[in-house]
Amino acid sequence: MVAAVTRAGHLCESVRKTLLPESARTKDDRSPVTVADLGAQAVVRNALSENFADVPVLGEEDASMLGDPAFAKIVTEAVALGGVRLDLDAIRRALEPDEGAATAPRRFVLDPIDGTKGYLRGDQYAIALALLEGDRIVAGALGCPALGPGDGGVVLWANEGGGTWQAGLLTDDRSWTRIAVTDTADAATLRFVESVESGHSSHDHTARVKAALGIVSDTVRIDSQCKYAVVARGDAEVYLRLPTQAGYREKVWDHAAGYICVSESGGAITDAHGASLDFAQGARLENNRGVIATNGPLHDRVVEAVVASLSSP
Ligand code: AMP
Ligand code: MG
Repeated sequence: MVAAVTRAGHLCESVRKTLLPESARTKDDRSPVTVADLGAQAVVRNALSENFADVPVLGEEDASMLGDPAFAKIVTEAVALGGVRLDLDAIRRALEPDEGAATAPRRFVLDPIDGTKGYLRGDQYAIALALLEGDRIVAGALGCPALGPGDGGVVLWANEGGGTWQAGLLTDDRSWTRIAVTDTADAATLRFVESVESGHSSHDHTARVKAALGIVSDTVRIDSQCKYAVVARGDAEVYLRLPTQAGYREKVWDHAAGYICVSESGGAITDAHGASLDFAQGARLENNRGVIATNGPLHDRVVEAVVASLSSP
């Protein structure tokens, strides 16, 4: 899983250095997609097929955009830039959805570029891959190509009961360090992270929750599951993702890898109302609204403040 994410990380960073305007398109839901999203998914899928050919993959992207020949050509070039040899047919096969993947007892869940808006802006993004069994996340690899310290990004790896580990992502010399959340239990000093995009998480409600808890520090805004990474390694204590639209359901690929990185580093994760995240409902977290991830000690207090904020006009 780490090798697959690493290959995708090389592809994404190579493409970002040479990204052309025609390499971004808009999907039906009006969210952006780039050649790197498709290329990265194909590369991860292809890498996984070497050792896990029997485990279906639920990925965010599919092959439909390859119907546009100009786009298909640059996806092929993007994959080559990442150092992987796959022709267009192989890429198309790697992007065809696996029948029944969303509900298979054992499945990979993949967001090839989580935070595409951050990717296009030159900010943070993540390659998020998790292995699920039923409602359990048993392993996760979270590649954060633009997250420090230093150049080359980091990759987080967690498996059930094994803790969370961090290493350089785009480096030849990889050494792993175990990471942990902070033990901060003083409400006033909690450090918050939230989405850059106010359409993905309500900035107003975050500000109200912080005021209720007496927090004065600025909220750090970061795209993608890098928010889970910074909580997991103790650079922040609270990640709030508070609903902006009543009907929106979180996607499993936006949370599965980040979830296990935080839980295995000692943190706590629930939805905005304090309920456990239910990963057994297919592609979406049908039974949950929003997400709260914290270092643990004050999780219940943060949930209370969120519930109070969401229930008042
Ligand atoms: P972030 O980088 O944390 O802002 O999250 C990026 C993810 O937000 C994308 O992968 C989308 O799947 C997801 N997303 C899109 N619309 C919404 C929404 N209305 N509420 C929450 N998440 C969303
Ligand atoms: Mg995403």
